[in-house]
Amino acid sequence: MNEYLYEAARRLVAFDTVSSRSDSAAISYLAAELGSRGFQIAVQPAELLGITQSNLVAWLGAPRPGGLIISAHIDTVPFEGQPGWTREPLKLEAGGDRIFGRGTSDMKGFIAECLDAMRTFDAKKLVRPLVFVFTASEEVGCLGAKSVAPALNQILGETPVPRLAWIGEPTSYTICHAHKSIVHFDVVVRGRGGHSGAPARGVNAIAVMGRVIDAIGRLQEEQRTKPSAAYEAIFPDSPYDVLNFGTVSGGLALNMIAEESTLRVSYRSLPDADPLALYREIGRRLGALDRHDFASREHEASIEVGPAMVVPPLNSARGTALERVLFDVTGARDSGGALFGTDGGWFSGAGISSLICGPGDLEQAHQPDECIRREPFERGVSIVAKVIDRMCCGARLA
Ligand SMILES: [Zn+2]
Repeated sequence: MNEYLYEAARRLVAFDTVSSRSDSAAISYLAAELGSRGFQIAVQPAELLGITQSNLVAWLGAPRPGGLIISAHIDTVPFEGQPGWTREPLKLEAGGDRIFGRGTSDMKGFIAECLDAMRTFDAKKLVRPLVFVFTASEEVGCLGAKSVAPALNQILGETPVPRLAWIGEPTSYTICHAHKSIVHFDVVVRGRGGHSGAPARGVNAIAVMGRVIDAIGRLQEEQRTKPSAAYEAIFPDSPYDVLNFGTVSGGLALNMIAEESTLRVSYRSLPDADPLALYREIGRRLGALDRHDFASREHEASIEVGPAMVVPPLNSARGTALERVLFDVTGARDSGGALFGTDGGWFSGAGISSLICGPGDLEQAHQPDECIRREPFERGVSIVAKVIDRMCCGARLA
């Protein structure tokens, strides 16, 4: 057993890096480990959702064009209050052919592999830059990447930013070059309160929210009935923009006219679509809606569509050097679409073409008793080493 690999994973899992907490201690650990291997280190602080977070950039190698970015997010989804846990979420535990702990698949196992690959790596072999980017707050909208991706130019100084990035999200070593954008926003309906015995004196926000849901639902149905032939191969389940009603709330008591109702909506648009096109269409349709409730024509509610939060899509070019290397070292033969969003959307925006491929299992990500299988976990160290060797050492790949 590779003791350093397991020790690194144990340390990483033990840091509580749920997105609502600061990741600073974990980032300091990564900075110290990579600093001791000769990497130049930059910690980029960022205030994200009111919490002081840090992104880490660590780089090594000659300041020449080419090379590779290897990236992962350090934050995890929550575990407190999640039913189904039978183990300590922050304690790495072996059981059968798996190891358990929050983040083992998504994506601290991959980060531990990167650290272990660097332990035995001969830095003198690097002829092009190797850049690790570890990000905060991915699970809450890829906010760390949004802040660090456009700053890489400045952070790396003389070192040209590599144009290719490998993001080790859990895909069981399948390769993804595309994912949809993610957009979310709130819709708030404000009515007029009062006694439920006199409904005509008020306007019920929940009733008007019903109209809102119906209008957005019709749009959802329209998307489903016009799939894109171009995306049938990589998004076979949904080759169209998908919408979701996340949460809805409103009203205070049975005998009161509901004064306010809030709906949280998200959708995912195809990679080549304008992420905000549906948002604008929803705004138009809600603007034209009947704002009366069903009890009277007396008063109208107001409908407010809040600002959109956007995670950009991933739509990486096929046939890059990184794609060929990942095919070779993982044995994968093709590349497809990921059903989740990643930091890669923000990297794309900074001119960096990303591929998603990692040892963890998507079925395990975000689950209680999250785990990773030992075999892909341990094999990952040599995969990381081989990818670096091919991308950053020896002759440049065309
Ligand atoms: Zn992830």
